Amino acid sequence: FVNELAQRALCGNGAMVGEDLRMFFPSSPWPYIRQVLGDNGGFYEFELQPVMSNVETVWRGNITSWTASEGEVYVLVLHDVTERVRVERMKTEFMSSVSHELKTPLTSIIGFQELLMERELSRDRQMRCLTICHDESKRLLHLIEDILMVARLENGSFHLHKSHNSLDDLLTKAVSNYAERYPSYTFSLVIGDENVALDYDEVLMNQVVDNLLSNAVKYTPAGGHVTVRQKLNDKHVVVSVTDDGIGIAREYIPFVFEKFYRVYNSLTRHTGGVGLGLANARHILEEHGGSIWLESQEGKGTTFFFSLPIQAC
Ligand code: ADP
Repeated sequence: FVNELAQRALCGNGAMVGEDLRMFFPSSPWPYIRQVLGDNGGFYEFELQPVMSNVETVWRGNITSWTASEGEVYVLVLHDVTERVRVERMKTEFMSSVSHELKTPLTSIIGFQELLMERELSRDRQMRCLTICHDESKRLLHLIEDILMVARLENGSFHLHKSHNSLDDLLTKAVSNYAERYPSYTFSLVIGDENVALDYDEVLMNQVVDNLLSNAVKYTPAGGHVTVRQKLNDKHVVVSVTDDGIGIAREYIPFVFEKFYRVYNSLTRHTGGVGLGLANARHILEEHGGSIWLESQEGKGTTFFFSLPIQAC
């Protein structure tokens, strides 16, 4: 029978206390469950699909029975397993998107290696094949680094290895590297006269800048413009990366720094990524006492900003 808690969980305020609980779960095979209980020493666990409760909620039931002097007694315990099912679904989606992301560059690396092994190619074509293999290998490395970073954050083995470095140099190298790799885009770098040297983890800060630049390219059609600016105020250095790409609709902006979050549109479907880059960038910057935010207009472009404190570094 329905007790007060079951009533609250299943049907809100309706006056159902004392009613037969089975009517909430009409699709459950009650006669069969009764039989299995007998064969199973009085215990059975099964999925429940209530007719009236919130459709988002997923229930599992544990039913126990025994024979008392007044007849057979059944106790049904309802477990709200919505969160567990959501996490399991996320795990499955993650496995399938990571496998896909690993497979795509590997397939192209193997294809070009086979071409190099089987054919006599001109030096020019050899270089083109090797460049693709190199870029795709880097893509694999980035993906693995992103996943390892999440693992390190979760098991507490994340540490910064700071040294005194010039941020100008890091930005200059990153921008010229991208300009060379993506000649169909126009890259600009705007840096003031001051040479900014800060204490930061060079490997991780490179990862942040690389992620912002690679997103700018990924989410901007060929021919687009990417501008990196560095500005100083009293206490912070603020770096921005602006593109004139697809932009992000206002309703999705609050979620882009969440782990595994990707905005689904025609371009993201065709670009690689598992939605870890910005979540990791935010974490790295917060560990440095900094922050990251963005401004975007759908169809017009996006600017990501990050700031690092000057004194506190
Ligand atoms: P990934 O690029 O691997 O999907 P990120 O965490 O780097 O993961 O980015 C999360 C999502 O934010 C992307 O899937 C994309 O939808 C959106 N996004 C990030 N950068 C841009 C950008 N410059 N322009 C448009 N959308 C972007």
